[in-house]
Amino acid sequence: MSDETTPATTIDPLDWDYAPSVESTPVDIPAEQGLWIGGEMVAPVSDAGFDSINPATEETLGVLAEADEADVDRAVGVARDAYDDVWGSMPGKERSKYLFRLARLLQERAREFAVLETLDGGKPIREARDFDLPMAAAHFFYYAGWADKLDYAFPGADPKPLGVAGQVIPWNFPMLMLAWKVAPALAAGNTVVLKPAETTSLTALEFARLSAEAGLPEGVLNVITGAGATGAALVTHDDVDKVAFTGSTAVGKRIQEAIAGTGKRVTLELGGKAAHIVFDDAPLDQAIEGVVNGIFFNQGHVCCAGSRLLVQESIHDVFVEKLKERLELLRVGNPLDKNTDIGAINSAAQLDRIKALVAEGETAGGERWQPACDLPEQGFWFPPTLFLGVAQSHRIAQEEIFGPVLSIMTFRTPEEAIEKANNTPYGLSAGVWTNKGSRILWMADRLEAGVVWANTYNQFDPASPFGGYKESGFGREGGRHGLLPYLGGVA
Ligand code: NAP
Ligand code: MG
Repeated sequence: MSDETTPATTIDPLDWDYAPSVESTPVDIPAEQGLWIGGEMVAPVSDAGFDSINPATEETLGVLAEADEADVDRAVGVARDAYDDVWGSMPGKERSKYLFRLARLLQERAREFAVLETLDGGKPIREARDFDLPMAAAHFFYYAGWADKLDYAFPGADPKPLGVAGQVIPWNFPMLMLAWKVAPALAAGNTVVLKPAETTSLTALEFARLSAEAGLPEGVLNVITGAGATGAALVTHDDVDKVAFTGSTAVGKRIQEAIAGTGKRVTLELGGKAAHIVFDDAPLDQAIEGVVNGIFFNQGHVCCAGSRLLVQESIHDVFVEKLKERLELLRVGNPLDKNTDIGAINSAAQLDRIKALVAEGETAGGERWQPACDLPEQGFWFPPTLFLGVAQSHRIAQEEIFGPVLSIMTFRTPEEAIEKANNTPYGLSAGVWTNKGSRILWMADRLEAGVVWANTYNQFDPASPFGGYKESGFGREGGRHGLLPYLGGVA
């Protein structure tokens, strides 16, 4: 199943709904792809495969290899050899050169990677182009800068790599989650076996090829595609020293159980149900933009999405009216169109989950509102949705919907806002809109969330650590803190 031997399909984005605003950078996708192990594409032991599809058209983009336990064993073995023979003992200043090269190449090929990300995952090209890819490259640049400064990062400690990192990532930000995991792991001197999500593996495989272009020594980065069983085999493999997982809380719990007592280091970045809190003294038009971005960015497939709007009772009606007007302007459709605001739902399974929770929200007594919008006939789509009259006990106020659905509730006092915001098992993020600086600090002190945005939302920077409390997981990614999970000998 090596891609060297199979013809490549050229996807021409212009084929679908031609318009001047449709992204026109062509990408080559191999018809069949293997596993990236030891610096080359190899066939999986079992020869099993699965299709990767474009969720906006339901067209097959290519057949991917499904790695089983034997493949996982091989990838981990190769990563161990690369760690022992080359990477683990390479001086940081040398490792850093490879990371800079990866960052630069990714930057040079960002447009092509953005198109691939959009085709495979359904996100608007504007987001892939302006957010996912520049941020992914920025993470490699940032950690390249740390690779030769670990002693300065942790003065008085004796930072040492751990060995082989087994990393499992979700489908919502495929390249960015890869960068969050791979960049600090390699900077710290570990080697990597990465399993991307089943529905969005194409950019990880392309990045693997890019790593060869960058001259990264063979076996330092390995990418194995497959389903949940592949991820389970990877994280439980005896020779994996460090497990890094981003995904759902349910799977995170299963992983923690599976590796309990093994001595493996683990970090879990899990789900969220963020409160987005708007006070009556907030700049309302800006708050509307923040709330819209908070829930509709990437179709709401965002762990830190502001999926619960808590609006102060005195401005509820005017705020909801403005919000509805703004939603009427959102464009849902062709993800490759640069004017699209909301792209395709990532998979049929995710669409079913969104529909089921929305139906349940209505049954429970929530009032559903959606703007008039034509959805394409092919593909997986869901319109931007508001729920009014939501009670805290409703499932749509408690569970992660992971779709373009906002549950709206009210509060009267700051104390009540805090009580409602914290009334969830999650603790990943929150947003506060108010004109009073002292109130922002008061709120930030009391919100149980890894990140609190004030008068803005969804701001990220490689230098800024990100991670959760409670059932949103533990460990931090980004910043100097993001190195800690990949190092021994540090506090
Ligand atoms: P998921 O179902 O938990 O899957 C995540 C990854 O784990 C996928 O690669 C999946 O493979 C794999 N997997 C499934 N079962 C496994 C097992 N038993 N052992 C090891 N790996 C296994 O989550 P998802 O639906 O892809 O992603 C959405 C979730 O990710 C949401 O809950 C979201 O909040 C969370 N998320 C959190 C953050 C954060 O930083 N906190 C960031 C982004 C997303 P398959 O693809 O084959 O199922
Ligand atoms: Mg796909």
